[in-house]
Amino acid sequence: MSIRETEPGFPKLREPRVRRPRWLGLRQRSAKRARAQRELDAQKTALMERSGGVCEAMFSVHCTRVGVEPHHVVKQSQGGSHALSNLRWVCRWCNEAIEAYPAQARARGLVRSATGSWR
Ligand SMILES: [Zn+2]
Repeated sequence: MSIRETEPGFPKLREPRVRRPRWLGLRQRSAKRARAQRELDAQKTALMERSGGVCEAMFSVHCTRVGVEPHHVVKQSQGGSHALSNLRWVCRWCNEAIEAYPAQARARGLVRSATGSWR
């Protein structure tokens, strides 16, 4: 004779674990990234207005003086925001030169660490 679920001797069944699928997190992360991108796009208009379309870095010897893209003074990976104070409207050449010559870019105030000090 078999025991029934309601009887005391019946082995407790564990609740099946409901696992959040991995792709759910991915989607949330990509939504966050998409939101950040929209914020940045909105800032581009303000940046173009502030700079008058002129490269705000004038860092590279090849500077075209025509700003085309935003540059983050404090890198996004270091928690730098899309606030206008953290953005410079720069030409492609300057943006590349800033990446290529970080020490000089730092000296010109085009790059800053999140903490304000470089270890
Ligand atoms: Zn430039």
